[in-house]
Order: sequence, then C-alpha cells, then structure tokens
Amino acid sequence: MITAERKPFDEILALVGDKKKILVAGCDTCVAICLTGGEKEAEVLASELRIKAEQDGTGAEVEHTAAIRQCEWEYLDMIADKVEAADIVVSMACGIGIQSMAEKFEPKLVVPAVDTNMLGMPQEHALWLERCGACGDCVIGETAGICPVVRCSKSLMNGPCGGSHDGKCEVTTPEKEDIECAWHLIWERLKAQGREELMIKNRPPKKWNLSSSGGPRKMVREEAKLV
Ligand code: SF4
Ligand code: SF4
Repeated sequence: MITAERKPFDEILALVGDKKKILVAGCDTCVAICLTGGEKEAEVLASELRIKAEQDGTGAEVEHTAAIRQCEWEYLDMIADKVEAADIVVSMACGIGIQSMAEKFEPKLVVPAVDTNMLGMPQEHALWLERCGACGDCVIGETAGICPVVRCSKSLMNGPCGGSHDGKCEVTTPEKEDIECAWHLIWERLKAQGREELMIKNRPPKKWNLSSSGGPRKMVREEAKLV
C-alpha cells in the first residue's frame, strides 16, 4: 500500500495562507489504513485549523470531507459540491490523489497536507516497511522474493557489497539503525529454497529507464478499452 505522513502543522498553515473557505479532504483507502489521511484524520486537521483561525481571528471557515479514493475521478464527483465551494482544498491523500483532485477541479487550489513516502508492507500494528520502489522491471523472481532495489541500501543487483556484518547493512544512520542486509536475507532464503546458484548469477545492468528515472511512465491496457 501507499504510505504517507502528515506534514508539520506550520507547513500546512503556510500552504493555506489567508484563504477563507478551507476544505480538508481525506482519502479513505491507503492513507486511511496507515492512519494518516482518512476521514478521521481529516476531521482532526480541520479542527486544528478551525481553532487556529479562531485564535488568530482570521474568520476562516474550515470543513472536512473524504473520498473513498481521491485517485479516481468517479469518487471525486461525490464530493464535488464541497470542493467547488472551497477557496482551497487541503488534501490528505497520497501524491496521486492530490494530483487527481488538482487535475479534475483545475484551477482550484489544492495543496498537500501529507508527505507520501513509500510503498509499504504492514509489518505489525502501526508499523509499515518499504518493500517496493515500483521500478518497472521486477527482479524478485531471482532474489527469493526480496526486493534489492529498496531493501539494499545501495540497490545492488549483484550483492552483497562486502560491508555487511552479522547480517546487518553497513549503511546506518541515527534514524536508520539495524538495517538488515538485503543480500544476506536473499542468501538465507535462497538456501532454504535450494536455489543457491542464483546468488552467483551475474545480473546485467538493470533497465532503470523503466523506472521513474526514465521519465514519467504510463500504462495502457488496450484490451480493456474494447469492453
Ligand atoms: S524489483 Fe522493482 S518492482 Fe520488484 S519489488 Fe523491487 S522495486 Fe518493486
Ligand atoms: S550491506 Fe547489504 S544491504 Fe547494505 S548496501 Fe551492502 S549489500 Fe546492500
């Protein structure tokens, strides 16, 4: 799923500026599940903005709403009245939802209240771990189902780099301690699968042009256009 974290309140305030009719719009799919931008979180942010407006005497009116998915225009139709009535939409959806909102209601001012950060796997309650970078050229069929693009700190296709110690990655920072070495994990799982030979297979340079590094991508499903 797509995960995101709420921006600091001061940053949101700066984006809102002096607008008088503010709509906080949540999205009830990914960002709701990661407890960042669903209807409940939209209601909380709207309350915070309302209290701030009262404290500062700005006279701003703040409403909140939520779409089932902000990334699909059909669901945006259901909140169109509220969007049209607002001077500004503060979106709590992921970057895709925010841009869907901005495109559908152009030139309505739509600003983000969250920072979209990764494609994450729920590991335990309130913990998500990055598992995919949407590289467009999936290699995990040969790496025991473990993604070297996002789980190896150097995105090595032919690891390990030689810097791992006791199964831990050599790349650590105060914020990122105890990172597991992806290639250690790959080796352990390949062994368990009896596919050790894949560890020494030399992988050619990856097709990074299929990732976001190759420019904006698109996906067309021709057969679906016929139905
Ligand atoms: S190899 Fe690419 S598509 Fe596959 S999991 Fe990793 S980032 Fe995602
Ligand atoms: S120690 Fe492992 S995870 Fe870290 S950069 Fe090297 S190969 Fe990648």
